Amino acid sequence: MDMDLSDDELAFREEVRAFLAEHLPERLREGARNTPSVFVEPEIGDEWHRILNARGWAAYHWPVEHGGTGWSPVKRYIFEKELALADAPALSVLGLKLVGPVICHYGTPEQQARFLPGIRDASEKWCQGYSEPGAGSDLASLKTRAVREGDRYILHGTKIWTTHAHYADWMFCLARTDPEAKPQAGISFLLVPMKQPGISIRPIVTHAGDHEVNQVFLDGAVTDATNLVGREGQGWEIAKFLLENERGGSCAAPRLLADIAGLRRLAEAEPSGVNGALGHQPDWADRLARLELEALALETTELRILAELARGRRPGPQTSLTKLLAANLRQRIDEAAIDLFGPLGLQLPAERPLYGNAAPEPVGSRAAQLAMPTYLNGRAWTIFGGTNEVQKGIIAKQVLGL
Ligand SMILES: Cc1cc2nc3c(=O)[nH]c(=O)nc-3n(C[C@H](O)[C@H](O)[C@H](O)COP(=O)(O)OP(=O)(O)OC[C@H]3O[C@@H](n4cnc5c(N)ncnc54)[C@H](O)[C@@H]3O)c2cc1C
Repeated sequence: MDMDLSDDELAFREEVRAFLAEHLPERLREGARNTPSVFVEPEIGDEWHRILNARGWAAYHWPVEHGGTGWSPVKRYIFEKELALADAPALSVLGLKLVGPVICHYGTPEQQARFLPGIRDASEKWCQGYSEPGAGSDLASLKTRAVREGDRYILHGTKIWTTHAHYADWMFCLARTDPEAKPQAGISFLLVPMKQPGISIRPIVTHAGDHEVNQVFLDGAVTDATNLVGREGQGWEIAKFLLENERGGSCAAPRLLADIAGLRRLAEAEPSGVNGALGHQPDWADRLARLELEALALETTELRILAELARGRRPGPQTSLTKLLAANLRQRIDEAAIDLFGPLGLQLPAERPLYGNAAPEPVGSRAAQLAMPTYLNGRAWTIFGGTNEVQKGIIAKQVLGL
């Protein structure tokens, strides 16, 4: 793909830069920079989401008729890149990038009218009820049951690792509606209100000390039959559509490149104890250059996928490739940060948040304080959305034909 920007694209980049300079407050930039968990907290993310929505840019990748922008792949990329370079908080993917596109594609007009506005303006929050104890990689073995009773479904079962369930108003959920059918054929995709007596939430605190994920218990949880997306039994097809978006719908390279640039700045300020800064030592220069080159290669692949999407094609199994590469790169950046700070990189603050006036004083610098919790939480990158091993299996079968 030709990456020389046209005049129109350069003007668009200036427009985004001017918008960020005027509308992205330093408080939110600081919050994003100093977040060691995978997701930013809603107090940071939602405020930024609303600012973007007021400009019509929150659901920029949705079809125009549902509030999208109609931007070309290059413009989408420019936008994501400028946001990453400006330390903008990452928007929660659960509504905008996961269930939103599903409702745009498979939802009825009534479902679209009911749910899309609340996703666009962040007034309703979502969580993803796919995984269960015993059904993660082997998702089709899920056991949560949804039984139709008149004009409602009644759900029994449990979901686990449910990110931000404790903030969510709704869960998009896979449940078995036909236990007699083949595993994949008996699954349906349901939207379930979270704030009801049939649902309870048990927090799971990560080894870094953050509360992002939960176990959710559905004990007679109720949802209206109108909240079935697609047909009964079509859940597996919809789940795969969503997973492709989860793995490839976002562009990981802009943020990785911004983080590598940040790591380089830190390395060039860190004394080596021998001669000059650590970042100028040959082994560090080599390490940073390798990370950067691999992130640039990933960027090219992501641009190719965006171009396919713009032609109306589904991203397909190549998203497994980008998910795998991005997750590994993310973890190598986190490992490098630990190595950079030596003993100071081993501190693990128990308090949260690590931004704002209430943040605990770091030993050394804030960047050193963030290194360990970021590294520990970041082990999740190679697990959620499908583990590395599962992605390699998909690549082996569907891309290489092995
Ligand atoms: C931080 C975090 C957030 C998450 N958020 C959500 C969420 O919001 N909603 C949600 O539904 N889920 C969520 N998940 C769950 C995530 O999708 C699952 O953890 C993931 O799919 C792996 O499933 P599992 O944990 O059951 O591991 P298992 O499937 O039991 O895997 C265990 C090990 O076996 C390996 N393995 C399994 N099958 C194969 C195979 N066929 N070939 C080779 N190796 C294999 C795996 O790679 C792994 O190393 C989250 C997970 C994490 C860590």
